[in-house]
Amino acid sequence: MGRNRVLITGANGQIGSVLTGYLRQQLGADHVLATDIRPPERETGPFEKLDVLDREQLGSIAKKYGVSHIYHLAAILSAKGEQDPLGTWHINMDGLFNVLEVARELQIERVFFPSSIAVIGEGAELENTPQYAALIPATVYGISKVAGELWGNYYYRRYGIDIRSVRYPGIIGYQSLPGGGTTDYAVDIFHKAVQGEAFECFLSEDTRLPMMYMEDAMRATLELMEAPAEKIRIRSSYNIAGMSFSPGELAAEIQKHLSGFRISYKPDYRQQIADSWSDSIDDEAARLDWGWKPKYDLASMTQDMLVQLRRQYGLPVH
Ligand code: NAD
Repeated sequence: MGRNRVLITGANGQIGSVLTGYLRQQLGADHVLATDIRPPERETGPFEKLDVLDREQLGSIAKKYGVSHIYHLAAILSAKGEQDPLGTWHINMDGLFNVLEVARELQIERVFFPSSIAVIGEGAELENTPQYAALIPATVYGISKVAGELWGNYYYRRYGIDIRSVRYPGIIGYQSLPGGGTTDYAVDIFHKAVQGEAFECFLSEDTRLPMMYMEDAMRATLELMEAPAEKIRIRSSYNIAGMSFSPGELAAEIQKHLSGFRISYKPDYRQQIADSWSDSIDDEAARLDWGWKPKYDLASMTQDMLVQLRRQYGLPVH
């Protein structure tokens, strides 16, 4: 993968800002072009301001940099998306079409498109949700991800675009802040805990959801993108699992390290979204096809999050 040239859309978000760092370390900073509608917090390599709705600019930037791989992360997430359903559909779908069309025109070698556990909804088994579950989501974000999976599969079969996708669970990391999803509480809770503050959770105590530590999400993404093409049998999107827990279980795990930590529960509109999603995920297809295996569970993730955030806040690390 030594000389690949990568373009990332939505590169300044929760996942993109971390993925940019991983890819720059692997390929060299100037082989990874970060793009977003907002500027980066810290410049660590080339950046272009790019709205994914502008196909012409996307195409000319990709041509100018000789891009071989696109990681298309720009999207409006589940909770934020409900505030503007049609606007969310526009950005999530037309942004994807622009990426797919540019990939077709410029014969881009590989495209990564993250889907989400938000594709799950009505009629699906919520415990150990299988790869081929009913996909009748309750949010416009979920609908856009289902449609995105299907269009990715179509571009692969129709035009041979080597597009690859995973359904990320809720992603937890210390490096960046989440941008409007239903699992955001699982990052915010750590920031409050290390600062010695109480946390009010917008989901109920026993709402179990699939989650994944950022390190595992990065490894899943890179391993999927590096796998030989013949191993990628599923071109819609792979289920991948890390861990599953409820706010109550996460709080109890944090309390093992910070006994004074307090949590209260005040469910809002996001509760309904969470209730429609899986409790846990069956990721056997990803394990069999390209060797996916998570490293972090609730205990090891919690321990690492607390250490890393204490460092970030300048607090002593025991
Ligand atoms: P985020 O909201 O933190 O970041 C999204 C980025 O996209 C932002 O920096 C935003 O400025 C940018 N953006 C928005 N509209 C844009 C536009 N029109 N043109 C260009 N950039 C635009 O999201 P994230 O958590 O980093 O998610 C990245 C991807 O991963 C998304 O596709 C999301 O659906 C998917 N995903 C994330 C999670 C999670 O837990 N974070 C879970 C499942 C799937």
